Amino acid sequence: MALIVQKFGGTSVADTQKILSAARKAIRETKKGNQVVMVVSAMGKNTDHLIDLAKSITEHPNSREMDMLLSTGEQVTVALMAIALQTLGHEAVSFTGAQIGIRTDNTFNKARIKTISTKRMREALDSGKIVIAAGFQGIDDDFNITTLGRGGSDTTAVALAAALGADCCDIYTDVDGVYTTDPRIVPEARRVERISYDEMLELASLGAGVMHSRSIEFAKKFDVPVQVRSSFSDNPGTIIGPDPESDQVPVCGVALSKNEARFTVIGVPDRPGVAMNLFSRIAEAKIPTDMIAQNVSNQGKTDISFTVPGDEFETAQEIVRQVSEEIGADGYQSNSAVSKVSIVGLGMAHQSGVAQRMFEAVAAKGINIHMITTSDIKISALVSREDGVAAIRAVHEAFQLSEVPAASVKAASESGKNREEKDLVSAQFISRLNGMEDILIEQVGCDETQMRFTFADLPDRPGLAAALFKRMASKNVNVDMIVQSVGHHDNLADLSFTVPRCAADSVELLAKELTAEFGCQCKSNPAATKLTVCGTGLRSHTGLACRMFKTLSEGGINVSIICTSERNISVIVRETDGKNGHDRLLAEFADEMM
Ligand code: ADP
Ligand code: ASP
Ligand code: MG
Repeated sequence: MALIVQKFGGTSVADTQKILSAARKAIRETKKGNQVVMVVSAMGKNTDHLIDLAKSITEHPNSREMDMLLSTGEQVTVALMAIALQTLGHEAVSFTGAQIGIRTDNTFNKARIKTISTKRMREALDSGKIVIAAGFQGIDDDFNITTLGRGGSDTTAVALAAALGADCCDIYTDVDGVYTTDPRIVPEARRVERISYDEMLELASLGAGVMHSRSIEFAKKFDVPVQVRSSFSDNPGTIIGPDPESDQVPVCGVALSKNEARFTVIGVPDRPGVAMNLFSRIAEAKIPTDMIAQNVSNQGKTDISFTVPGDEFETAQEIVRQVSEEIGADGYQSNSAVSKVSIVGLGMAHQSGVAQRMFEAVAAKGINIHMITTSDIKISALVSREDGVAAIRAVHEAFQLSEVPAASVKAASESGKNREEKDLVSAQFISRLNGMEDILIEQVGCDETQMRFTFADLPDRPGLAAALFKRMASKNVNVDMIVQSVGHHDNLADLSFTVPRCAADSVELLAKELTAEFGCQCKSNPAATKLTVCGTGLRSHTGLACRMFKTLSEGGINVSIICTSERNISVIVRETDGKNGHDRLLAEFADEMM
């Protein structure tokens, strides 16, 4: 007998007919001899309506009371679902998050799950009932109701599947699977058969709204097979699991995060610890920072640019204003009308020319890129909000994502991986976690094969990055970390990247040509060291990058380039600081390492 978790999103339970149809799906599963736990969202747009109600009283409602209010949406659905199941002749029982015993921390509006008690659910399942759990909610140590953040029912579902050791977690929604990009924005988008945890986590965190990114952290950490499928048919959907669909193509999907905000703190004293100060204050407010770009220092001062989700703009702005003053920066700039376009793929790590292809596609539409950051499996470009949709369409086309990739990877079950060994390793490290959503570090790496180039004061116009990386690709140079940030001088940008040291001669030559052509300057560090912390969900655990900066700054180590993703955070330091930095990071993360 298998145990299946079925999650139904807002549109799938928007009215009582749809609730009845979801109930029938659950009953059909039990008829196959399986036990079923249903996780449901608030009906239709009910969460939005509740938010509007509170906002009609005040712009800034108390966050504890907001969780009290929003949790009622899911409570309505669980009760109606139980009534529907009972009416259809099946025993069922509904539970709120608190009744199941989903314990969270006390960060209202974006609480993290600490523990889940399975006793009550097991008893109900064993007595033949279908269990219906309210998504998106939990309870803190003081019995306050908490919520997990918008879209958090996915996370409840996968977390329950993990806690119960379920055989599968089916996410029923209004699309029939995960597409190469949002099919509502790009109608040519293709449904993928399979996508890896790492790729889905990165896409979700970069704006692919089909899954709550934290649910994929759970799925990867606890090895839960997830299937995204349509509520309105019985067709199979997309499997999210350990393996990608293909390892031949560089890109598996593109994401658009429409509502982003960018800050640049100008003239920051370039001393160890200053960046840490800024980011730790933002992390304390649980605001995720992305696209962190720090320009190479000029006369002892540097500029730091980063993005935050658009709805955190005001809170972040207040923090940036205060910290800029405290650290003696010259000031800050902000832009709250930008969007982030990202490409994601496990295959890009070992293919050259991927960045160039993306930048060329954007440039061909006359769209200017404000900022660029990369990691081993993603490249993000920041553009003006009005250009976001055109940029995503252009990039989707450039990588021919509508076409089925030629070579597929064998699924894990066929690939001869030793399942028992894998289970043992995961059981060992999971037993060391204090909370289910605690961070896990896989590796702390030190790479001494890279060198850094920085072009300063480049004319900031469409096509610039494309032209530069096209030339780089023409010499077959595999560019690794790329960071482009808005300069604080009007219309000038800075662009740093790393290349293998063995490519030094050709890149030096190219740099000479380019500086003459663009009238810019180029500095290089022939012996940079890249330090990387690798794990799962690193960007969404807002404090992790800070801990990394703090650890390095305590050793007097300055960082020049910073690149973040859900899978790793990398920084470039001087070669002479490499070993010291590596040792310090190993010591700092020793307890969380697998
Ligand atoms: P639910 O209410 O079921 O949780 P959501 O609205 O949260 O549903 O997620 C489903 C929506 O996600 C789809 O309607 C689609 O517009 C959007 N979406 C964004 N990116 C993707 C993608 N890559 N693949 C499929 N759907 C996507
Ligand atoms: N009802 C919540 C929301 O709309 C949670 C969810 O649907 O996942 O964000
Ligand atoms: Mg959703």
